[in-house]
Amino acid sequence: MKQDYYDILGIGKNASTAEIKKAYRKKAIEYHPDKNPGDAKAEEMFKTAAEAYEVLSDPNKKARYDQYGHAAFEGGGFGGGGGMNMDDIFSQFGDIFGSAFGGGGFGGFSGFGGGGQQRRVKGSNLRIRVKLTLEEVANGVEKTVKVRRKVQAEGVTYTTCATCGGRGQVTKITNTILGRMQTAATCNVCGGSGQTIDKKPNEADAHGMIVKEETVSIKIPGGVEEGMQLKVSGKGNDAPGNGVPGDLLVAIETEEHNTLKREGDNLHYDLYISFSEAVLGTSKEIDSVTGKVRIKLEAGIQSGKILRLRGKGITSLNGYGAGDLLVHVNVWTPKEANKEQREFFERMQNHENFMPNPEKSDKSFFEKVKDMFS
Ligand code: ZN
Repeated sequence: MKQDYYDILGIGKNASTAEIKKAYRKKAIEYHPDKNPGDAKAEEMFKTAAEAYEVLSDPNKKARYDQYGHAAFEGGGFGGGGGMNMDDIFSQFGDIFGSAFGGGGFGGFSGFGGGGQQRRVKGSNLRIRVKLTLEEVANGVEKTVKVRRKVQAEGVTYTTCATCGGRGQVTKITNTILGRMQTAATCNVCGGSGQTIDKKPNEADAHGMIVKEETVSIKIPGGVEEGMQLKVSGKGNDAPGNGVPGDLLVAIETEEHNTLKREGDNLHYDLYISFSEAVLGTSKEIDSVTGKVRIKLEAGIQSGKILRLRGKGITSLNGYGAGDLLVHVNVWTPKEANKEQREFFERMQNHENFMPNPEKSDKSFFEKVKDMFS
C-alpha cells in the first residue's frame, strides 16, 4: 500500500502551490543523501518525497491523483508516481532550489552511493505535439512521427579527458543552503562525459553530433486528455560519447468531435426525433467512437430519456474497461403547423392519450441526472 502523497509531504489537500513547494524543500533537505550518507531509509524517503512533489506540483497530475489516487498512474506510460531515478530528482532541483543545484545542461550533483561513481551524461529531451481525434483518444492509437534527433556522427573517435581524467567531474567545496558541502561539479572541458573528441568528420558539430531524421512510433493508450505528456524513453537527442540518449516528450492535443461530447470516460450524444417518431417508435443511426450504431426507440418514448450504451465510451486510461455512450432523446416539437395539422391536434388535445400521465418509471430530469452519476 503506497503512502498518500499529501501525508508524505505533511500537507493538507488544500495546500497552495507555494505550500507544496515549501513542504517538499523541507523534506528534500532533511533526507538529502549528502546529509545522510549510507542511510537507505533516508534515501527511500528522499525518493518518495520527490515522487510526491512531482505529482502534486503538476496541476494535471494533481487533479488525476485527487480523483483516482495512486491508481491514476498505474498502467499507461505516464511518468509521475513511481520510477523516478536520481537524475530525475536532481533535475527537479533547479526549480526548487534555484541554480545552486543542478546547474548546467547536464546536472551537477555528486551522484550517489559514496562518490567516485561517474554520472552518465544524458542527451537533451525533444518535444513534439500530437493531435488526436476523439476516436483515437477513445480506442488508443499508434502514431508514427518524424523526429530530427542529434546522433553521433560516423567516424567520431574519443579520447579520455585530460582535465578530469575521464571521471566527468571535478570535486569542489561549495556553500549551499545545506551548509558547506563537498560537491562534484561537472567537468566543463568534456561536459561531464569524461571524453573529448579525437577525430570527427567535417559535417559533425563540436560534440561530434549530426542531426538525423528518424521515424518514431508512439503507442498512445486510450483515455488520454488534452495537455497530457507522454514520454518515449531514449528517443531524444543522443549524448556525446558514452552518454545515454534523452527522451522524446509528446504533448497530447485533442480535436473536438462534431456530435460526441466527452465527459471523463463517458460520451454524450444529443438525439433529436420528430413528434411522430416519438409516437410511432423508430430506429436511428448515431455516431460512436467505433463507427455508426443503430439504436431502437420504442413507441411512446419520452423527451429527456437517456439511453445508455455500455462500454461505448472512452477506454479508461487505467485499463479498467471503458465508459458509456449516453444518448439524450429530444422530441422535436413542430414550431409551425398548417391548417390541417392544427385541426388534427385540436381534435386530439382532449383525448386521454394526449394527457401527460407520468409513471414512476418516467423519472424527472433531476432524478435521471442523479442516477447517471451514482
Ligand atoms: Zn573532463
